[in-house]
Amino acid sequence: MCFIKSYDGEMRQIGECMGCSIVKNFDNDKYTGQVVKTKNFTIAQDFELPINGFMVISSVRHLESINEMTNDEKLELITLIDVTIASLKKLEVCPQYNVVWEEKVGNHFHVWLMPRHDYLTDAMGTNIMKKIGYLFKYAKDNLRTEENLKAVEETIIRLKEELKANETIKDWIV
Ligand SMILES: [Zn+2]
Repeated sequence: MCFIKSYDGEMRQIGECMGCSIVKNFDNDKYTGQVVKTKNFTIAQDFELPINGFMVISSVRHLESINEMTNDEKLELITLIDVTIASLKKLEVCPQYNVVWEEKVGNHFHVWLMPRHDYLTDAMGTNIMKKIGYLFKYAKDNLRTEENLKAVEETIIRLKEELKANETIKDWIV
């Protein structure tokens, strides 16, 4: 069994696959960061990094690639990316986002919606994606403060309300 330190500093058991573990624990209040679950995806705060508004959209099925998805899943995915970013912008969490997914053997499919906060570009330069390793270290070393964790939790709650009230995705939410 594998344990990982979550963004709020707690050690949590993630089993064989973090994506599958998030799906399995989605209704568990003690598991952190859950926003909404839809038919085919979960939306949650990034498990490890305490970056405000850093959301991860993860498939419910253990897939490695978008190429394995049905057309319904693809439509749901792109719509969730769009609606989640638009909602975070509306909530004034951050005005711009990088969207990233990685194909890797054994990697549970997930999309990162990474906010381009000024404090990150100030620390890392404008091409954050070039320094992704530093970004992870910076977030773990500097952002687990009481004030920042409070902002992260507030965004989770506000985004949950916003997405649950969204007309475009309401039929997918479970
Ligand atoms: Zn998995």
